[in-house]
Amino acid sequence: MYLDHAATSPLRPEAQQAWLEVSALTGNPSSLHASGRSSRRIVEEAREAIATALTCRPSEVIFTAGGTESDNLAVKGLAWGARGKSMILRSPIEHHAVLDPVDWLCTTGEFTVTDVKVDHGGRVDVSDLISHLSDDVALCTVMWANNEVGTVQPIAEIAAACASAGVAFHTDAVQALGMLEVSADLEGLTALTISGHKIGAPVGTGALILDRDALIVPVLHGGGQERDVRSGTVDAASAAALAAAVTAAVTEQRGLFQRLEVMRDDLIRRVLAAIPEAQLMGDPGDTPGLRLPGNACFIFPGCEGDALLMLLDAAGVECSTGSACTSGVPDPSHVLLAMGVDPHDARGALRFSLGRTSSDGDVDALLEVLPGVVERARRAGRPRMVVRS
Ligand code: PLP
Repeated sequence: MYLDHAATSPLRPEAQQAWLEVSALTGNPSSLHASGRSSRRIVEEAREAIATALTCRPSEVIFTAGGTESDNLAVKGLAWGARGKSMILRSPIEHHAVLDPVDWLCTTGEFTVTDVKVDHGGRVDVSDLISHLSDDVALCTVMWANNEVGTVQPIAEIAAACASAGVAFHTDAVQALGMLEVSADLEGLTALTISGHKIGAPVGTGALILDRDALIVPVLHGGGQERDVRSGTVDAASAAALAAAVTAAVTEQRGLFQRLEVMRDDLIRRVLAAIPEAQLMGDPGDTPGLRLPGNACFIFPGCEGDALLMLLDAAGVECSTGSACTSGVPDPSHVLLAMGVDPHDARGALRFSLGRTSSDGDVDALLEVLPGVVERARRAGRPRMVVRS
């Protein structure tokens, strides 16, 4: 039972087919001869298909090697591009692909960071964000939807606030694409990150949708491909596969949303009924649309997330914990800590994520084994707590 679609989702046959066909061809898209021109045509058709699906101009699609690269390019490139401005505004629940480049920029002494407040459900406090907007803000970066707890952010509102303040705005839409209506034509949006493997394209594919007027400094220098923003021979097979997956994901999004939302609510209701002490993390669900349709994240008090994960894995159920393991010490998730969750409790977090190949049978199978697994994990107790600052 694969309940880890937020980590990576199964390859789509149409994306695999596109990749196989194009990878068999020879021709650098920058070469001027016939083979080069055919590769170029494939890349430009892929760019157009992605632009149509995401409502932007083809020239705004910059192909990259995935979400991490797109996030790094947006964060570093836009911060450096905003010459003379020194503050970076972000949510503290961003993925590490955003948090870490921001932290790294701060180590250079050129920038400082301000973390915007989030509430207990993981939603950004827009008035707090607005109170920090000033002439000195180089970049504001807030993800469209969170990968751990699934909370959806008021992106249109944030983008509009950044537009009024003249601040560049980047959003990481890696988890939102294919699950929510994602459009890059929001007023005030400067850059938007997508990653292929979360929507059924191969790992290592992705793009940054970058406003044509954005002031950006490249991270990779070289042959000047991709508007001089991302040098390197363009990977035509990856572009074609990404375009196939984006087109399919956007076409199917509405139907998938409705199907997964029902399945997710059933999963949440049954887990809370079977294990009454379990706590649902993220949006409490009172208002529809504030949680990703495939996300269900819980804390099981008194349990170690890693123990739960291994016991579930042995029982044939695959999911994720909310912790990052560094040097053998599982850290509580920075997302849960920013939401005000107690560090000890945060260690018992588990995320189940549904996707397009999920079925009701997956939820039944989870519920068959979960109560026993939680009981065993609780009896096993916890190793001595180490909380890193
Ligand atoms: N951003 C978010 C929100 C993610 O969930 C992930 C992957 O888990 C990434 C960025 C990184 O994307 P990639 O794996 O394509 O580098």
